[in-house]
Amino acid sequence: MTGFDTFAMLDWSSGNDTGPRPRRDAIWLGLVRGGVEESPRYFRNRVEAEAALAALIEAECAAGRRLLIGCDFPFGFPAGFARGLTGCDNPFAVWDWLETVIEDSPRANNRFDVAGEINGRFPGLGPFWFNGLKREIEGLPRRDTRTGHGLPDRRRADADAPGAFSAWQMGGAGAVGGQVLIGLPVLNRLRRLFYGQVAVWPFEVLDKPVALVEAWPGLINPVVKRAEAAGGIRDAHQVRLMVRALARLNPATLAAMLDVSAPEEGWILGLGHEEELMAACEEPLRPPPLRDDCFALPAGVDWTPVDDALALLSARLSPVVGQERVALGAAAGRVLTEAQVARRANPPQANSAVDGYGFAFASLGEGDQVLPLVAGRSAAGVPFPGVVPEGYAVRVLTGAALPEGVDTVILQEDVTLGEGRIAFRGGLKRGANTRRAGEDVEAGAVVLEAGRVLTPADLALCAAVGLAELPVFARLRVAVLSTGDEVVEPGEAAREGQIYDANRPMLLALLRQMGHEAVDLGRVADDRAALRAVLDRGAAQADAILTSGGASSGEEDHVSALLNEAGAMAEWRIALKPGRPLALGMWRGVPVFGLPGNPVAALVCTLIFARPAMAVLSGAEWREPQGFDVPAAFEKRKKPGRREYLRARIREGRVEVFNSEGSGRISGLSWAEGLVELPDGAAEIAPGDAVRYIPYASFLLA
Ligand code: AMP
Ligand code: MG
Repeated sequence: MTGFDTFAMLDWSSGNDTGPRPRRDAIWLGLVRGGVEESPRYFRNRVEAEAALAALIEAECAAGRRLLIGCDFPFGFPAGFARGLTGCDNPFAVWDWLETVIEDSPRANNRFDVAGEINGRFPGLGPFWFNGLKREIEGLPRRDTRTGHGLPDRRRADADAPGAFSAWQMGGAGAVGGQVLIGLPVLNRLRRLFYGQVAVWPFEVLDKPVALVEAWPGLINPVVKRAEAAGGIRDAHQVRLMVRALARLNPATLAAMLDVSAPEEGWILGLGHEEELMAACEEPLRPPPLRDDCFALPAGVDWTPVDDALALLSARLSPVVGQERVALGAAAGRVLTEAQVARRANPPQANSAVDGYGFAFASLGEGDQVLPLVAGRSAAGVPFPGVVPEGYAVRVLTGAALPEGVDTVILQEDVTLGEGRIAFRGGLKRGANTRRAGEDVEAGAVVLEAGRVLTPADLALCAAVGLAELPVFARLRVAVLSTGDEVVEPGEAAREGQIYDANRPMLLALLRQMGHEAVDLGRVADDRAALRAVLDRGAAQADAILTSGGASSGEEDHVSALLNEAGAMAEWRIALKPGRPLALGMWRGVPVFGLPGNPVAALVCTLIFARPAMAVLSGAEWREPQGFDVPAAFEKRKKPGRREYLRARIREGRVEVFNSEGSGRISGLSWAEGLVELPDGAAEIAPGDAVRYIPYASFLLA
């Protein structure tokens, strides 16, 4: 069992209380729960840290979540130590022994004395060294003058880990000896406190809810250093990045890392897999955040025409996602970060378009032709090796490179084949039945522009011109939440006055169809504190948030109230039907689209506004959905002022609209296969008049 829900990474310290202000060389804990990263926590001393670890284990177990805790100190000592100290090879015997002798408080601990005492139990001098105290300690040398203690200096794992310290060294920058002596008793107490729920790697099978593993941020040092260069506390970066790496590894990779046998000494998780760990925690390259005022309307604007609103969105928004490279096979639906240039021409060389016979056009005379054949042939992938002399023909197959001396091909059906000769009628054109090198794409030509959302056909084009990997934007993560005291989860019992949440399943599915990563934030009651907490969660997990309901200015409209409170809210009254004011705002730097609660308006506002806006946030080019002029099968009079969208579909070449324009009619959304768009001005439509019809699919493809 290697699937974990929660990951923690502990940076331990054997020193005394480090005070209230977060600082380096202290105790830090990084945490990722359900994929959500928390800010690293600082602990001023081990009493607080131990209590927090116990509380964490308790909470995760109670919630039924599997927890992996990484600790940055060795769980075992070099081979032979356990037997020398306790008389058996079981590493837990050492843990038990240490727990009985270590005395630890926020002000002081006896780690140096214990190291000296252990040394006294081994022959010669050592293995522990580096007395960091002013007073002399019997048996613990200040410098490495050890001799004759009979133990290896390092574990096998330490030998493989460049920069890792020996557990024997009790002091000096980077030393780990003290942390082991002081840390193992803490882990031992947690094992006992949560007996039967905690397994220790690699000594035990990880079949319990909690796994304690030895992990070492030194393995991802280059990434830590880069993060540190931008400021902040090194230890905080270490636990943040290490726990992110562990949480983001795919389960098979983590399982492979956990698959080691080191029953006495223990092992460092991820040793030999440093590249995978670093790739998992590398900070994505991110463009700067959007400005908080990107949704502000020009002063004095009241009802905004749809086109003006769209123009504003397109001008104010920009990509908010990082970049990565993906293999061609995984690139469908992704957005190109830069234009792509053909590495090679398509076709790469002149070739035959048919099965037939090739020759030089210049060697043909007037009228009917008889040409002798050269021995051999040219097939796709197996070219003719020689030159075809003038006046001769050669057998060629479809897709075969034209041999030297051949520029024209005759179809085999147009030929009479004799012994070593072919005969055919005159009248052929130069270059007939051949494909010119580069006739489709020349090498060096731009094949796709930046911002392109890659289609299956694009992948064929890229493959043909020699592109195997493409630079794409990271997927846009969009969180969805529904608000309203009346809204309950489909499948739950609904009391009188309650309605099922129709918007969330619709919006989540739409986002996925648009190629975004949908993050389900669930439902929130009309309660400001609860909504605030969910928006926080959304901002931590996603690049944009879609809410439905509570977006107007009523007393229960908490979405707009909160965005207003955050000081970054704009209420766009768009001249559009159906649709109420759209609340646009920023929550902790993340754009929020406050959609109306009404499902019909929620869908229309999503397709017309949120869709192109999210496309820009995801790095894609701004594109209008493709509509078609189709004769109407209905009649309608429309007043000027607002653009209108009707639920519609095409039957027998005419566009019909749903029999009710009632904005609560969800059945009409489902009945429809697209929208009829009626212009902002007045309109009088009679059956047979052309109206603009936009299929739902056009919104998803654009
Ligand atoms: P509101 O925008 O919150 O005033 O809601 C407008 C209308 O949409 C009300 O009738 C709500 O009950 C309804 N509504 C709000 N959220 C949802 C939802 N998630 N699913 C279905 N109907 C909803
Ligand atoms: Mg509501």
